[in-house]
Amino acid sequence: MILGVIADDFTGATDVASMLVREGMRTVQVIGIPEQDPQAAAPPPPEGVGSPGGAGSTRGAPPDGADAVVVALKSRTIPAADAVAQSLAALRWLKAAGARQIYFKYCSTFDSTPAGNIGPVAEALLDALGASMAIACPAFPENGRTVFRGHLFVGDQLLSDSGMRDHPLTPMTDANLVRVLQAQSHGPVALLRHDVIARGAEAARTSLMALAADGVRLVVADAITNDDLRVLGEACVDAGLITAGSGVALGLPAAYAARGWLQRDAQAAALPAVGGAAAVLSGSCSVATNGQVQHWLDSGRPGFRIDPRALAAGTPVVEQALAFVQARLAQEPVLVYATAEPAEVKAVQAELGVERAGQLVERAMAEVARALVDAGVRRLVVAGGETSGAVVQALDVHALRIGAPIDPGVPWTAALNRPLLLALKSGNFGSVDFFAKALGQVR
Ligand code: ADP
Repeated sequence: MILGVIADDFTGATDVASMLVREGMRTVQVIGIPEQDPQAAAPPPPEGVGSPGGAGSTRGAPPDGADAVVVALKSRTIPAADAVAQSLAALRWLKAAGARQIYFKYCSTFDSTPAGNIGPVAEALLDALGASMAIACPAFPENGRTVFRGHLFVGDQLLSDSGMRDHPLTPMTDANLVRVLQAQSHGPVALLRHDVIARGAEAARTSLMALAADGVRLVVADAITNDDLRVLGEACVDAGLITAGSGVALGLPAAYAARGWLQRDAQAAALPAVGGAAAVLSGSCSVATNGQVQHWLDSGRPGFRIDPRALAAGTPVVEQALAFVQARLAQEPVLVYATAEPAEVKAVQAELGVERAGQLVERAMAEVARALVDAGVRRLVVAGGETSGAVVQALDVHALRIGAPIDPGVPWTAALNRPLLLALKSGNFGSVDFFAKALGQVR
């Protein structure tokens, strides 16, 4: 393994993993910190599991044949001390598994508060690694996130003028990242300006070394194009720690290849064919998912609706759903959905309570997922972040090999512990025909 990534949320983890795969690194995402010591011997993978790279692995074992491993945490908005503790535990596991370089991945809108968690986690990782300094760069030009003179832009707007200013948990009211990061860090924060980066990797590296010699701990790096990200990748290839959004990952595989550490793999996104039946589970009520469910039904495909009120009343909804699905599974993929329009969701929540309604649906989706896989489903599309979490947990999936993107930010993935392909879509992602499109891409 070359790169160990600590990501502060699940979809962010998938995002950076997709970037690495795209650039030719075979990448595995683990969900949470594996329980087992990576040095412990791994039992052989079950029959039929494993991609051309040999993806056999189990919970806690170092994924065999992966160039990069991304640990997905849920640490973005938890108390800073907990985020630090979890990140350090992830670091220990990744180092024990052989990672040469560590990448702390956060959001491209630098989601944080004066209490953290970007500064405290970055400084704790630096201390633990015995490293003097790391860059901090959320730039992701393809998604309109650019950093210039230390100021973060979202499209044409300063971060502080964008919708992020009203974020319920991490309102970003200052676009000056040096100031934002300094407010949540103990050590000095400085800026690596674009005019230096424009002179190339050697100039950037010299400048970073001079800042480190002055005692600077974190350096906000400008980047407005993919070329800037490649310069940063090359300049930081020997750093113990990089802190960034997913953009900087774009420049690393080429830098590793130039060092002879990595043979970039044109088949990095290849996943094993698993055969079996296919299904879609949707527990997201976002605008995009409502459109996708409607599109599926409008095109005459079968769907079974899970009604939270019926669940609350004790009706055997899961059994009904399974009977519906099993009658059709051999012929065509079936959708099971709780997806509803906002007014309907509000009404149900008013009746059952927000939490109870959510839990009833998540539990039902988890049961359906388990029964479907038992019934031979091997390709499963899941819509909804929380829903995906519930399904992955129910299926006892702890690690995923990352494949090709279906739509930006949503790749196909392969479970490492069983022959199962999963497309885990967070609410607002994907085109209107996402479900059929996804299922058309894998066998
Ligand atoms: P998203 O990624 O769109 O936010 P999530 O799965 O994270 O989707 O969250 C959707 C939440 O809404 C889940 O807790 C789910 O159980 C719940 N839910 C799904 N359908 C309904 C419904 N019809 N009424 C109330 N809650 C629902």
